[in-house]
Amino acid sequence: MAEVLHRLENIRVRYRNEHVLDVKNLEFLAGRSYAVVGPNGSGKSTLLGLLNLLVKPSRGKLLYRSRDVGAPGFDLKSARREMTLVMQEPVLFRGTVFKNVAYGLKARGTPAEEIRRRVTHYLALLDLESFENRPVHELSGGEAQRVALARALALESRILLLDEPTANLDRDKARTVENLLLELRNHGERMVLVATHDPWQAHRIADEVITLSEGKIAPTKPENLFSGILSEHRGGWGVEVIPGVVIQVLGQGQGEVRLVIDPEDVLLALEPIRSSARNSFHGPVRRIERIGSAMCITVGAEIDLHAIITENSLKEMGLHEGKEVWATFKSSSVHLF
Ligand code: ADP
Ligand code: MG
Repeated sequence: MAEVLHRLENIRVRYRNEHVLDVKNLEFLAGRSYAVVGPNGSGKSTLLGLLNLLVKPSRGKLLYRSRDVGAPGFDLKSARREMTLVMQEPVLFRGTVFKNVAYGLKARGTPAEEIRRRVTHYLALLDLESFENRPVHELSGGEAQRVALARALALESRILLLDEPTANLDRDKARTVENLLLELRNHGERMVLVATHDPWQAHRIADEVITLSEGKIAPTKPENLFSGILSEHRGGWGVEVIPGVVIQVLGQGQGEVRLVIDPEDVLLALEPIRSSARNSFHGPVRRIERIGSAMCITVGAEIDLHAIITENSLKEMGLHEGKEVWATFKSSSVHLF
């Protein structure tokens, strides 16, 4: 069993008179990667601050490696040395890029040649090879964000907490960072947690997606996630997700891909729909579940598909378990990654 690193029990965080975080039970395990998604103000940064042992809960218990963080005698200093937080708007120190990335390592008494090795290595991973001697005040926002990431990664901490790490990056650079995070997650005992407002990114990089809504854990919408081989299909492109079942897509290319269809983009009907939508599947309703104020319907066609509809449509269509329906979505609703 993987070690439980953080455990939250009935945690509340209050600023002034408002609860900005209210979490009953949540655990973070070594060797796993997490994404926290939610709109602005939903409490993502507060959760990261809590896990980094900076933010104090106003109620409840936070355990780190089975020890109560609030108890007298808890060794805050050693615990904090095992984690690194990159803030949403990271602050760099004056001086060169090299000095910034080396800073934490120096403070920890790392030998000079090891510092040099790590600085070079992590700058290269973030496409910043030639930046070592650049003064940080000359950097663009995106470059500064990547320097801050290199500085954090260079510490090789067991726990990495990243607050919207790709917010200032263009698509290519964001992909570089995402790929780097994917590599990190395959490295044994590490825990990586990324706050993001991009649900696609969350699914690309994390084993587990936690959704926050006004400080509370909201049910993460079940996603229609599939993988398969992308190839030409009937004059367009398709991904064979199980033998003989092809999902039509817009993206071109070849080879293994993953794809996701937002359940809100899956339409349900009692008759086959004649439309430009390219994907249509037929089968019985297997499950009806409430997700917040909407309903999630799982259709058991050749593949299981989730659709989110309103309670009204559920009633109008007279849906119940076992009823046969058509689930339809456009190729443009299929996101490849
Ligand atoms: P997110 O990162 O998801 O945008 P935050 O955790 O930053 O959300 O904020 C959650 C809520 O807490 C917001 O309503 C915000 O205004 C409030 N908040 C965050 N930090 C503070 C603070 N230091 N003092 C007072 N209110 C705060
Ligand atoms: Mg934030």
